[in-house]
Amino acid sequence: MPTTTLKYRTVNYIAGKPGANGQKQLEVRSPLDGSIISSVPLSTAKDLDAAVKAAEAAFPAWSAMPIKERSQIFFKYRELLLNNREELARLVHEENGKTMDESYAEVDKSAELTEFACSLPQLIQGELLEVSKGVECRIERKPLGVVASISPFNFPNMVPHWTIPNALMLGNTMILKPSELVPISAVRIAELLKEAGLPDGVFNVVNGDREIVEAICDHPAIKAVSFVGSTKVAKIVYVRASASLKRAVCLGGAKNHLIVLPDAHLEMTASNVVASMSGCAGQRCMAAAQMVGVGGIDHIIDRMLVEAKKLIPGKNLGPVISKAAYERITGYIEEAEKAGAKILLDGRNPTVEGGAKDGYYLGPTIIDHVTLDMRIAKEEVFGPVITIIRAKDLDAAIDIENANPYGNAAAVFTQSGGQARQVMERASAGMIGVNIGVPVPREPFSFGGWNDSKFGTCDITGKSSIEFWTQLKKTTTKWNPEGKVNWMS
Ligand code: NAD
Repeated sequence: MPTTTLKYRTVNYIAGKPGANGQKQLEVRSPLDGSIISSVPLSTAKDLDAAVKAAEAAFPAWSAMPIKERSQIFFKYRELLLNNREELARLVHEENGKTMDESYAEVDKSAELTEFACSLPQLIQGELLEVSKGVECRIERKPLGVVASISPFNFPNMVPHWTIPNALMLGNTMILKPSELVPISAVRIAELLKEAGLPDGVFNVVNGDREIVEAICDHPAIKAVSFVGSTKVAKIVYVRASASLKRAVCLGGAKNHLIVLPDAHLEMTASNVVASMSGCAGQRCMAAAQMVGVGGIDHIIDRMLVEAKKLIPGKNLGPVISKAAYERITGYIEEAEKAGAKILLDGRNPTVEGGAKDGYYLGPTIIDHVTLDMRIAKEEVFGPVITIIRAKDLDAAIDIENANPYGNAAAVFTQSGGQARQVMERASAGMIGVNIGVPVPREPFSFGGWNDSKFGTCDITGKSSIEFWTQLKKTTTKWNPEGKVNWMS
């Protein structure tokens, strides 16, 4: 494929320079219309090694720079993100397909994540205590060295920012491996970091697929790996990175349950549930996937249908990522229909505003009377689809939530504080919403699920990530020549 004629050039970015496109290439299609907009290099372990060497070479000077000086670069970088908001959002829109509004929100969130990183000097002071006369112990947080971040297709700009600003601000140097489906934003992120004054080699991008992920897990000089993607791959990466003695935090898939009680506020609940299931075409790990209705909730479902019908593919609802994703999702819908579920709103083969030919569009889909034995009730669908399961009471609804193997988010919609509290206490998920459909904790709170939605001890953002990206240095000093020598000496 002649890469020069393509709209975007996707390259590796090593030691502050765009790399040559010598590698095998994979075409990158825009989900908006199926057109080929770029091609991504499928790098090899040799390319990774060059990036690791660059990151190793940059580490001593970068980690020795006082954190307040490092923060000046990230203040500048935040400004560049906002100054280039339009262009960055357009890249996300084209490579991922989400609407321009959703793409702007992604860039704005990246700026918020960078703001948090700029506040790290206020959060990571060490500790000091005189433990006996003239003898002091101090604890400081030190970076790990070269770290890696592996990202999924659904947030090409925001998910890399879950890790880049915090890991670098804390003194590490990094290799980013973006999703091969959406590699374009990463090149621009690297360029803007350089423009902000980041020294060469502190941040590097190595494109590729499984081969590079495996090489990252195995590389002896990489100290920590953060991964965001499906549960299947999160498990593989966690086991493989841990086997080569790295620190790892691996975020996986989700099947978020929303428990809706009959007393829930009608308009607010319906609009929140529909926004949660359909935002980013349902391709969010925080999306509402399964609604558990307790008792008489038909009035809420009727209102959800009104809200969902306002979503027009091509206007305020983007496509799913690929033809394969479209076929997988519609496969789940067909199977559920055959198994006796009732399709209240069918998004298959929608009319697309603007008539975008060959885009991977799917309209909002609401499926009622789903039962727990159906595949659609158990697996992650990852499209603008919500299934509804009926439960006889709140205990039964919580049991259903608890039985699902994932645990990213869970939410409850009710006007009863007591019922909400039951769900807050008993839902088995890392992020809980009360009357909110997408309960993402904003900085300084950290993001991370439970169960099959996350492997590893720390969360990936916020205060918890400080623990992940640093190690403690404990120093004992003795400035008391007159002091007695004893068992502690
Ligand atoms: P994915 O697991 O297919 O890919 C993620 C990364 O892993 C990519 O960079 C890819 O190149 C690499 N990869 C793919 N297969 C691999 C293999 N066999 N071995 C090694 N590496 C491999 O995920 P995706 O389809 O890009 O993203 C969607 C998934 O990510 C969904 O399951 C979604 O729930 C999840 N996700 C989770 C969170 C969270 O915070 N928990 C956030 C965003 C997305």
